[in-house]
Amino acid sequence: MTLEEFVAYVDALPSDCVDKRTAEEVIFHLPKKKHTCPACGSQHTCVNKYRDQALKGITNTKLRYIYHARRYRCSDCGKTFAEENPFIGRTQRKLGSPLKSLRGNKKISIAKMARLLGVPQYIYQDMEKLDPLLPPSMEIAEKTARILSVSIEEIWGDRQKLAEGIQRAAEEKELKKREKEQERHANSLYQDEWKGLKDSISDLSLEERSRLIEWWKRDVRNAALENGDKE
Ligand SMILES: [Zn+2]
Repeated sequence: MTLEEFVAYVDALPSDCVDKRTAEEVIFHLPKKKHTCPACGSQHTCVNKYRDQALKGITNTKLRYIYHARRYRCSDCGKTFAEENPFIGRTQRKLGSPLKSLRGNKKISIAKMARLLGVPQYIYQDMEKLDPLLPPSMEIAEKTARILSVSIEEIWGDRQKLAEGIQRAAEEKELKKREKEQERHANSLYQDEWKGLKDSISDLSLEERSRLIEWWKRDVRNAALENGDKE
């Protein structure tokens, strides 16, 4: 479950499941449902106690989420177990990126992971964030999965969607780069002609000068835009 899905999930809970909601924290529990004992399969289980779990790993929001988690006890074998929930595993406390926990399981440091992948450390750190959680390329994705001995799907889910996401991110980056280049191009054009203009109009009156500059600025801007479009 991604961070966004988690936030949406909690928002969609019945209102009596939200024990407290302030600007700083949300305390919630899950709707009660029948649980089968994972040890003996008995249907005779009842709530044993509650335990508050602060959910870590929610880095993109100031809100603190506290999960009022139920524990059940089996009436037949006496074992206790945690209720099922869609956002954290039974033993896993951290709501976080699968990549982070997989790397943790393998006891590989962030620095080593970046080295193995041949990417700067900040790029790898971005990959572990809940959002956007995208590797820079499919090659890096494959390499990451290989190092952790898992499939791409185990880390990023659907392979096709991952490829599309990477493609989209690359296109957006390229577009931004081109916009910047165009802007720089327009500025340099402006600078060069500015010197020539200053020399040639030094004899005109202030009013004539300013009118000329206004006209010239529009002209240069249009020329720059046209140039940019052709490239
Ligand atoms: Zn049992």
